Amino acid sequence: GNFVLIPKYLTTVFIVSIFLVGLSEEGTTFFPPKDIADKFRNDPETLKLASTDYGHIVHEIPATVFHPTSANEIATLVKSAYNSSVPIKIAARGHGHSVRGQAMSRNGVVINMTALNDPDHLRKAGSRISVSRSPSLGFYADVGGEQLWIDVLQTTLTHGLAPVSWTDYLYLTVGGTLSNAGISGQTFRFGPQISNVHEMDVITGKGDFVTCSAKVNSELYYAVLGGLGQFGIITRARIALEPAPKRVKWLRILYTNFSQFSKDQERLISSNNINGRSTTSSSHKNYGFDYVEGSLLLNQGPPDLSFYPKPDQPRISSLVTKYGIVFCLEVAKYYDDHTAPITVDKELEVLLKGLGFVPGFKFVKDVAVVDFLNRVASEEQALRSKGLWDIPHPWLNIFIPKSRILEFESAVFGHMILKENIPAGLVLIYPTNRNKWNDKMSAVIPEEDVFYVVSMLRSSGYNNWEEFDAQNKMILKLCVRMGIKFKLYLSHYETQEDWRNHFGLKWATFQDRKAQFDPKHILAPGQTIFN
Ligand code: FAD
Repeated sequence: GNFVLIPKYLTTVFIVSIFLVGLSEEGTTFFPPKDIADKFRNDPETLKLASTDYGHIVHEIPATVFHPTSANEIATLVKSAYNSSVPIKIAARGHGHSVRGQAMSRNGVVINMTALNDPDHLRKAGSRISVSRSPSLGFYADVGGEQLWIDVLQTTLTHGLAPVSWTDYLYLTVGGTLSNAGISGQTFRFGPQISNVHEMDVITGKGDFVTCSAKVNSELYYAVLGGLGQFGIITRARIALEPAPKRVKWLRILYTNFSQFSKDQERLISSNNINGRSTTSSSHKNYGFDYVEGSLLLNQGPPDLSFYPKPDQPRISSLVTKYGIVFCLEVAKYYDDHTAPITVDKELEVLLKGLGFVPGFKFVKDVAVVDFLNRVASEEQALRSKGLWDIPHPWLNIFIPKSRILEFESAVFGHMILKENIPAGLVLIYPTNRNKWNDKMSAVIPEEDVFYVVSMLRSSGYNNWEEFDAQNKMILKLCVRMGIKFKLYLSHYETQEDWRNHFGLKWATFQDRKAQFDPKHILAPGQTIFN
């Protein structure tokens, strides 16, 4: 964006600072309307926050950061950008937990979405999470796009309710995860978070405020879900709720053989094993596991064994040393503490029968549901205390079709990680069901009925993330050479051709929707799809 952003009615101090920050080559000028002119901040601290993210790889400095107190103010901003003769780029920033600058806007405007949640503002405007019930939808929550999932959980739990589909980590915003998909160990059964949204309020790239659902303004609804912020800014989402379970049996069982491990995972997510959506808390039983994931324990430095009882840690360590790689199947079974503490153990026995894990390597925890869903918070604390949280994250998230997972495992885990000792970071690997995704949505996934989520959540130093990035590229090249029809999740590409390949058959629709809802290419420039 080549412009100097000058809100007309700001104080002299602000105007001076804006001049310093926004001076551009061509010096074009954009004047936002009077009623939002005092919502821009340009102090170094604010600009610094908006020019960084969880990845710590990309840094793009915006001209200014917008702090809205209502959806209307966001609409006013976008509309004035749309009507301006100056090209202006606007990025909604949720919690900035992207890893490649997706929520940044070089020389443009970043909207600090969390300003909508400012306590002073909420005292006047009221909570931005509300729970209701309707005959057609059952229970649901209307939540601001800026809300963190942890807050959605805490609030809905006070009503004995909770969403059904999650991400592993809950300090992410609703608008941020719905722009991607929102996946975790519940996805095989309930679909990603984007499959559990009844309705949204969206401000399009023309500044129009539109309520959309599968029935009303459906093109925008499907565009926005998994739409990488390209079509509009989500200011409210209506999320499906169910009676919340109270407690969780949380298990990790260990394998030394990948084909046995993946066969068992696939069995646990198969439709024979699961039976759709439960309607009451007591019916959490007889539905198979509620959560199925998996991860690797690697002989690359001491593995994180904090989940396991202390006395068992030495024998788990020995197993990892002996095999170099151990596959950890992680499952959870929800239950209601009043009705089912004994029944749930019996159900677990049935569910685990016939699984081929290493005998004696089954570990069970019994925890409150919030401790299970918010499990990554303690890992965050541990990493923060070691200074290992705010560092570069050259992550790789790939969806691999089920038919190729054995070959992928052998080439990447067996060869690159085990033999060449490429640092793998935290590796998640679990299958999920395609039929829980809606193909009309923008999110892209492989063609097969079952595909694996493979996340290599690697962190690096500031001076060697490029080395890690090169290894990621090597893995992707290998997949291409092997003819694996993978799709990237939370993807980052540098050319439009790569994006076109990524979207495949959906590219034409994606482009049409962009032309319809954000014809001037104002929104989410940090995804570098149309810029
Ligand atoms: P931001 O980084 O702020 O924004 C992401 C994109 O969405 C940007 O393009 C932005 O412009 C756009 N955007 C933000 N808000 C809105 C809005 N209201 N309307 C429209 N567009 C908007 N993902 C999973 O699916 N499953 C996981 O288990 C998971 N675990 C994670 C764990 C950690 C520690 C981290 C850092 C990330 C994880 N993610 C996971 C990825 C995460 O879902 C995405 O990075 C998500 O975008 C983060 O949300 P955010 O609010 O920080 O988004």
